[in-house]
Amino acid sequence: MRNVYFTPGPSALYFTVEHHLKQALKQGIASVSHRSDTFKAFFAEAESNLRTLVQLPEDYQLVFTNSASEIWEKMTDAFVAGKSLHLVNGAFAGKFYKVVKDLGKQADSVEAPWGELPGYAALPDAEYDLIGLVHNETSTGVKTPLAEISRLRQQYPEALIALDAVSSLPVVDLNYADTDMVYASVQKAFGLPAGLGVWLLNDRARQRALAMQQKGLLRQTIHNATSLINQAKNYQTPSTPNILGIYLFAKVTGDMIDRGIQQIRNDGIYKAAIMYNMLDQHAVLRPFVKDKALRSDTIIVIDAGPRTHDLLDYLARYKMIAGNGYGKMKGKQVRIANFPTHSKEQFEMLTDLIEKFK
Ligand SMILES: *Cc1c(COP(=O)(O)O)cnc(C)c1O
Repeated sequence: MRNVYFTPGPSALYFTVEHHLKQALKQGIASVSHRSDTFKAFFAEAESNLRTLVQLPEDYQLVFTNSASEIWEKMTDAFVAGKSLHLVNGAFAGKFYKVVKDLGKQADSVEAPWGELPGYAALPDAEYDLIGLVHNETSTGVKTPLAEISRLRQQYPEALIALDAVSSLPVVDLNYADTDMVYASVQKAFGLPAGLGVWLLNDRARQRALAMQQKGLLRQTIHNATSLINQAKNYQTPSTPNILGIYLFAKVTGDMIDRGIQQIRNDGIYKAAIMYNMLDQHAVLRPFVKDKALRSDTIIVIDAGPRTHDLLDYLARYKMIAGNGYGKMKGKQVRIANFPTHSKEQFEMLTDLIEKFK
């Protein structure tokens, strides 16, 4: 029996990846030119499939990068002329905030303790070019209710809203009218090998990048926002991309469409519910996030305290690999990914095992 990875990312591969990888090798996909029609065809297929899968509006464009972290740098360069605002309630939101400051730009943050949500009702009364927030904080297992994103939109109609959905896309059903950019990495809920960032930008964001360039404010690098956008219009990339990754992304999003996004979402809710219900009644373990409305559907964080390593080792004996706590919570928490590739049966088994842990 192979290990089943419930780690937050890299995580278990989507169950059809092995098949598509074999096909790709047979067809020499990794060797085709990234300037060829063959490549353009599967870039186009990737975009079209993602659009269908997550009901992405027409005015959003898909750009591929090498990671989600890279997108933080691209966004800082292209959109922050004055100042950005960051809602920070975990490690990943904090990293974006740090990137903006490290690149010498101005940024404000509104901070919240891990496990909670920043105070959306009392945000600074200031002008921002860009607002960064995380839909699903992978470090803490807190999800941002979608109503808070609508509230941001109303309070800051001029700011570009950049939503990190790295560990929740394509499971989360977003309202794309409340954002200007949404981004993800494929090694989380898409169940693909790492090395590909997915950056979705609406027309407003693309126009802003262009305006920055025209004013001479955009650094001319090979991979800046405008070069990525312009190349992606022709299903191309400025440099040689992760061709195999883009091919697998096209195929797996197609498989997810065939399975049905509603089915995927319903299964996700079911799996999260059985795990949280069990944890709420557990003898020695507790869910880290106390407010049920903030509990992530895709990353479940368990307060295991001094029993963290015992729990991880116990699960590993059954070939179930869970994640350690993130950053300062390493050795204190266990994180469990609930992604589309994790079957209901696997999750029921995992829940049973954790229930028996004493
Ligand atoms: C993993 C993760 C990132 C970073 O993704 P990379 O692919 O490592 O760049 C950013 N934000 C969140 C919420 C994540 O979970």
